[in-house]
Amino acid sequence: MRQRPEGGSGRPKALITGTPGVGKTTQCRKLAAYLGVKCVTAGETLRGTPFVRYIPELDTYEIVDMEKAKEVVRLAVGTGDVVDTHIIELSPDPDVVVVLRKAPDVLYKELKDRKWSTKKILDNVWAEILDVVYVEASSRWPWAVQIDVTHRTPDETFEIIRRCVAEAKCVGDEVDWLDYAERSGFLSFIERLSRLGGFSSQPSSLS
Ligand code: ADP
Ligand code: MG
Repeated sequence: MRQRPEGGSGRPKALITGTPGVGKTTQCRKLAAYLGVKCVTAGETLRGTPFVRYIPELDTYEIVDMEKAKEVVRLAVGTGDVVDTHIIELSPDPDVVVVLRKAPDVLYKELKDRKWSTKKILDNVWAEILDVVYVEASSRWPWAVQIDVTHRTPDETFEIIRRCVAEAKCVGDEVDWLDYAERSGFLSFIERLSRLGGFSSQPSSLS
């Protein structure tokens, strides 16, 4: 019987992506345990390599050499593994692409509980409002599915991912956070907060 090779440079079964804080690592580990494969978290794989650099002011890691960083991730991923990253460029082409989404007001509260800096929280909340990760993922893999985790438990979310990966029954959600945030008043709140300090609409590099 042929064994799945332990080494990397394989095609991942799934990529779990989304803005930092949406639940990627949790779902990546669950799915990898279910499939009996590895969960490769790009951030952890790259930490300590010369291809990323810690930025103290932003409390985040930045990629300094994208080609080398991609190579490191590629070598860590075996066929059938699950990849966890919000940096789309870092992932090899997977079979299934899942973009986890979380309502921006809920994400804001949870990131505050993580005691992240206001700048880092704003960058990520704006990235979530503006669909940054989904836009990047779906332009490379048009079959990417979004799952709104806001009112789902980790187990409920996992069941949706499991059905998509194991049974090829992929049912995604429609997401329009801009409309949602405008209606709820969260958009004006976050705009006001952003005017007090600088922000960008990119998710912070390696959370
Ligand atoms: P990420 O890797 O995207 O930064 P984590 O896996 O660290 O996210 O999870 C962030 C938080 O979200 C954790 O507190 C986790 O318990 C919670 N979480 C994970 N999965 C879900 C889910 N499906 N729905 C709601 N919250 C979740
Ligand atoms: Mg994570």
